Amino acid sequence: MKNQETKNYFIDTEFHEHKKPVKFLGITIAQVWTIDLISIGIVCEDGRTYYAMNRDLNLKHAKKNKWLKENVLDKLPAKQELYPPYGSPRLLQESMRWLPMEQIRQEVIDFCGGKPDSDEGGSFYSYYANGTPIFYGYYADYDWVVFCWIFGTMMQLPNGFPMFAKDLKQMLDDKLTDFQISLGEVTKGEPTEKDREATFDEKLKWLKSQPNYPTQKNEHNALDDANWNFKLFQFIKERWQKNNNKTVSTNVQSEQ
Ligand SMILES: [Mg+2]
Repeated sequence: MKNQETKNYFIDTEFHEHKKPVKFLGITIAQVWTIDLISIGIVCEDGRTYYAMNRDLNLKHAKKNKWLKENVLDKLPAKQELYPPYGSPRLLQESMRWLPMEQIRQEVIDFCGGKPDSDEGGSFYSYYANGTPIFYGYYADYDWVVFCWIFGTMMQLPNGFPMFAKDLKQMLDDKLTDFQISLGEVTKGEPTEKDREATFDEKLKWLKSQPNYPTQKNEHNALDDANWNFKLFQFIKERWQKNNNKTVSTNVQSEQ
């Protein structure tokens, strides 16, 4: 029995792209590109959150990537059993979330309310108690590949999961492309006869300067990024529902 309701989940991942050596008799014979999950954050529209870091990751190898080391890896808590957790309560809590992929796989299904199908056995899911999941990301394509690889191939995605994520960046760009607003209005300059339709970049800059456009905090923490994705989704919905894409208004009210 399929749950006809749907539930929105906002995901973000941090990942390590690198060339993995292919060995034959202990000798590296080739190198192939791959993506490893570092961490995953999921925020459900009902307020629940999920966070895990990949314990199976080759952390030492990943730290050779300078950008990753400085922006992502050095900000992660130590693995609990190696070092006593310390620091903020949040860091302490997160230090317990270094989990093997197998556990992350099951926990993500559980987080989405997946119930094993009694007819097919323990690994077949067709019912999601919270509603059939819909996933959203921001610049979502890479996140989606990393997310799918938690489960294996595309065909190994839990039954009932969609085979794509919705991209908030794409949603925002599409809305903005169709949105009609003049340069004078976005720059709040004096109206002139030479006023013209604002370009896409001008509209985007204006939108990002609106007081209720969500601010990104603690960027590259997968859970904070996922939470920002949820806020951006709410912003897009409120912004365009309110204006019905027709009324030109620079007076965006903050939702209190
Ligand atoms: Mg991120």
